[in-house]
Amino acid sequence: DKFKNGLEKTRDSFVGKMNELVYRYRKVDEDFFEELEELLISADVGVPTVMELIDTLKDEVRLRNIKDTADIQPVISEKLTELLEKEGEDTTLALQENGMTVILVVGVNGVGKTTSIGKLAHYLQQEGKSVMLAAGDTFRAGAIEQLEVWGERVGADVIKQQSGSDPAAVMYDALQAAKARQVDVLICDTAGRLQNKVNLMKELEKVKRVIEREVPGAPHEVLLVLDATTGQNAMSQAKTFGETTEVSGIVLTKLDGTAKGGIVLAIRHELDIPVKFIGLGEKMDDLQPFQAEQFVYGLFK
Ligand code: GDP
Repeated sequence: DKFKNGLEKTRDSFVGKMNELVYRYRKVDEDFFEELEELLISADVGVPTVMELIDTLKDEVRLRNIKDTADIQPVISEKLTELLEKEGEDTTLALQENGMTVILVVGVNGVGKTTSIGKLAHYLQQEGKSVMLAAGDTFRAGAIEQLEVWGERVGADVIKQQSGSDPAAVMYDALQAAKARQVDVLICDTAGRLQNKVNLMKELEKVKRVIEREVPGAPHEVLLVLDATTGQNAMSQAKTFGETTEVSGIVLTKLDGTAKGGIVLAIRHELDIPVKFIGLGEKMDDLQPFQAEQFVYGLFK
């Protein structure tokens, strides 16, 4: 249901238009594919992904001898799911069986990083984990306070220093506190200014080094938060972060706020980083683990 409601805008726009297309054409032909292609591109699926999808669909249509546009819809669902689901890939969090799991959360200001950390903490608590938060964004005004608000809301301790302090020092403190209190998961916020790319990346590397030193094998996840409403901008942010930090998963926020949910396909296909969570609203339980089948089902039902 969360999926259904959260994807309403995309569904209304994308599926509505597709139904109209199916109704108008009736027979599968070159023009139909051309319009379908345009429709997918307008839903932010991304040109390379659309091209591949259309080629696959054409093959299937030939193979299965499909003539009616009405018969092509289930094939589209099937192929979308295949695009989103890489075989053998694990989209769940790498939670450690023994000892603490450290999750580093990165992303540009405004994408929903703080909110996602709060929601993720809540999600993990629901799974029976104890969670602590590290206020590693010491740069943006209000970032620490905002994280504290989320900490209070979900009932998780927040380790912080004053604004402007060294994020690596905050991380060190947080790691000590998390070890002492034997928390299951430590979620670390980081600064998100991309204007000064070099400094930001240096800072991230320094924070990572502290984490690696204090907890061997950590960070277990580096989650990149992207805003679905920013379309191709989100793609270029992912490429920038991907060049400097090893990103293990994506949290795609604000899918409820866009009709262009096709961005999930572009991200999955073009970036080769699994989407692990999607944000479908502003409340604490509006974060869902990403599942391809559920997502496609939510798009069409
Ligand atoms: P940050 O600067 O990256 O930490 O961004 P924030 O966490 O402060 O979020 C920016 C705005 O986006 C806030 O108003 C959030 O409530 C909102 N937001 C975050 N995630 C979602 C989401 O999944 N859906 C919607 N509709 N809003 C979101």
